[in-house]
Amino acid sequence: MSARYLIRLDDACDTMDRRKWNQVEQILDRHGVMPIVAIIPDNRDPSLMFEARDAAFWDKVQAWVSKHWSVAMHGYTHVMHHTQSKLLLPYYRRSEFAGLDLHAQSEKVRAGWNLFLARGVEPSVWVAPAHSFDLSTLLAVGRETTIRIISDGIALDSFYEHEFHWIPQQLWTLTERRSGLWTVCLHPNTMNDAAFASLDSALGRFSGRLIGVQDVGLRKRKKSALDRLYSNYFWWRHRRLPQPS
Ligand SMILES: [Zn+2]
Repeated sequence: MSARYLIRLDDACDTMDRRKWNQVEQILDRHGVMPIVAIIPDNRDPSLMFEARDAAFWDKVQAWVSKHWSVAMHGYTHVMHHTQSKLLLPYYRRSEFAGLDLHAQSEKVRAGWNLFLARGVEPSVWVAPAHSFDLSTLLAVGRETTIRIISDGIALDSFYEHEFHWIPQQLWTLTERRSGLWTVCLHPNTMNDAAFASLDSALGRFSGRLIGVQDVGLRKRKKSALDRLYSNYFWWRHRRLPQPS
């Protein structure tokens, strides 16, 4: 099978840059792309305060749901602490969750989850702020929510581990690959006009290869030797040439 691609949009929240998000939404609509949208239920991260809180934000989320965008829970407040804890994906030494005990993590997950439910939205995917989470985070998400899919991890296709389906996320720009399943992570809040134009033209070139979460066909596949080889290569390259994340 030729390569398939998912688009993921990070850091949707009621203080996002609405003009930029509208622009990305128009581009995705033009190409019929149904992305994963990673939503912070109660943003408290000052670096993501682009506008005053938008009272109509959850109407926007409802509109995304009715367009079959896949809603991901992107943590709770997106406020992070320094951590030396063993992370499942070692991009950074900061996390909203990792390093806290299971009880504290469960409380955060439950609080975020309840905010979604109060707005009538049930996320199906977990996206950890800064990719940073540990095994306790997974236990908390498994116990406190109905989420069974993680958008993250380095592999060539979706896999099953720690009682979750993982849809790997390895790219930050649409890049030609021969086979496999690739998620491209975008941050609309910090995109500029050049980035919008290049996304628009890339989506044209990749037309027919862009799918939604519902098209992945999740199986209980274990990571293969090839996945591990690719993952080792990814982290080796990441340490030499840090990638945006
Ligand atoms: Zn984020």
